[in-house]
Amino acid sequence: MSRERPLILLTNDDGYLARGLNALKEALLELGDILVIAPDRPRSSISNAVTLHKPLRVELIHLSDACAVYSCNGTPADCVALGIRAICDRMPDLVISGINDGENVGDDIIYSGTVAAAVEGALHGVTSFAISIASKSSQPHYETACEVAVRLSQYLLNEPLQDRAVLNVNVPDVPISEVKGVAITSRGKKRYVGRIEMRYDPQGRPYYWRGSERAVIEDEEGSDVTALMQGYVSITPLQADNTAFHLLPFLKERLKSLLT
Ligand code: MN
Repeated sequence: MSRERPLILLTNDDGYLARGLNALKEALLELGDILVIAPDRPRSSISNAVTLHKPLRVELIHLSDACAVYSCNGTPADCVALGIRAICDRMPDLVISGINDGENVGDDIIYSGTVAAAVEGALHGVTSFAISIASKSSQPHYETACEVAVRLSQYLLNEPLQDRAVLNVNVPDVPISEVKGVAITSRGKKRYVGRIEMRYDPQGRPYYWRGSERAVIEDEEGSDVTALMQGYVSITPLQADNTAFHLLPFLKERLKSLLT
């Protein structure tokens, strides 16, 4: 791999075979050298989990002048940490996670392995973003998300993010000509409600199956949820420090004498 070209580490949580990741890999080749290190199977909704109690294995799938593709038996966060601290021969200039099949807005952000991989990049001090498409069909408009990712990467390679910030990008599933524009947003309200479904196994024992809960969204000006619904590309800055600063004065006042 050439020393002059930027090095981009690409991962996802849908696995190294995912169409979104492979579309993005092809699109990014115009920008620099690409190191893909992605889970060997789908690992969606695994958040920031890391693997501490079993060996991590990495398999080289493809190697060319400008691109290496590895699959890894770890989580998305493992992939980024291994990529940066074991596989790359220099620090990547950018970590990108995606293109995820399905939006990551509101409470999705907490569970998302896609977003977590980008956060892992930021924890290592590398400018990082996650990109997801609000896919509605079996043939999502990955080309729209690729265009957004390439333009954003060009910008970030010149203007890196400071202070371990991360960008969470969500793209509507439409041709690029139908995108209304870019909205800089905050995390909106999308919550999962309702009972978790119970069924019975062949032995008559109950089991539960997550994932069928209903999503409730609130339309709020300036939120990722609303921007996406209105046909905009949503870009939300996130930070790894999740201290609830607004509660500090209140809690200091109320809880300082808790043990006296
Ligand atoms: Mn996913």
